[in-house]
Amino acid sequence: MGTKYTIKKIISLIKSELKSYYPIKEIDSFIFIILNHLLGYSRAQIHLKLEKAADENLIEQINFYINELKNYKPIQYIMGKTEFYDLLFQVNSGVLIPRPETEELVELIIKENQNHFNKILDIGTGSGCIAIALAKNLPKSYVYAVDNATDALALTRQNSKLNHVDIHISHLDILDHNHYFNESFDIIVSNPPYVTEKEKELMQPNVLNFEPQNALFVPDNNPLLYYRAIIDFSLKHLNKDGRLYLEVNENFGIETAMLLEEKNFHDIQLKKDINDKYRMLRCILK
Ligand code: GLN
Repeated sequence: MGTKYTIKKIISLIKSELKSYYPIKEIDSFIFIILNHLLGYSRAQIHLKLEKAADENLIEQINFYINELKNYKPIQYIMGKTEFYDLLFQVNSGVLIPRPETEELVELIIKENQNHFNKILDIGTGSGCIAIALAKNLPKSYVYAVDNATDALALTRQNSKLNHVDIHISHLDILDHNHYFNESFDIIVSNPPYVTEKEKELMQPNVLNFEPQNALFVPDNNPLLYYRAIIDFSLKHLNKDGRLYLEVNENFGIETAMLLEEKNFHDIQLKKDINDKYRMLRCILK
């Protein structure tokens, strides 16, 4: 390579290559994430090392990131990892990238269930982020995690090892009415697919082209499909006074709450996320 590359030059290369693809704020955040991942630099260190020479290997890796980002591949999938609730998780395109609103759901569960032993089930666990964050932060409890995708379960298992938690991981298709599951729980939690086909049009290519469709979408004519199945399951597998926590589609919070009311649930609370959208439901089985 003829020109000598410095960290400063790498930063301007990333900026100029990506400027027609992403807003500048997002590019700035990519720059930090990439340099932190490849070199272990903090934000302050990046500023101190601007004149440092970069080797060929680093430039090759940077070019790989740039090309993947031009295809709108999410940065978390390129790196194969992300953070959730201050914990590290491996991710791949078989599982959703954990979202900040799901951290809010986890926070609510932790806040409300500090002091007792609870047997907890996470339905549709994916990367395992909810189950593992709960196991880590509610050490008196025992957590079960299920998913219908076996490749996702392999990753759940890896993530439980990575975070040194002992959770029970098994296969369950919540939509299969013949499933056999011989356990009961104090808490059931789920962030099921809830984005309607209609809402798909509003989504970005990084989500649409890379995240698993079966973890996101529901038919327009049956948007509460998973919630009905989870509620039926909970009626059978939740202990008396057991709690159900759900992440919901902001447009269907009230309908989902009504569904719970028709069944045997009380003390139903619909809560907003930091973006002021109805996102969490929590209720208690009578
Ligand atoms: N909150 C996610 C999104 O907006 C959807 C998660 C889900 O369908 N459970 O992409």
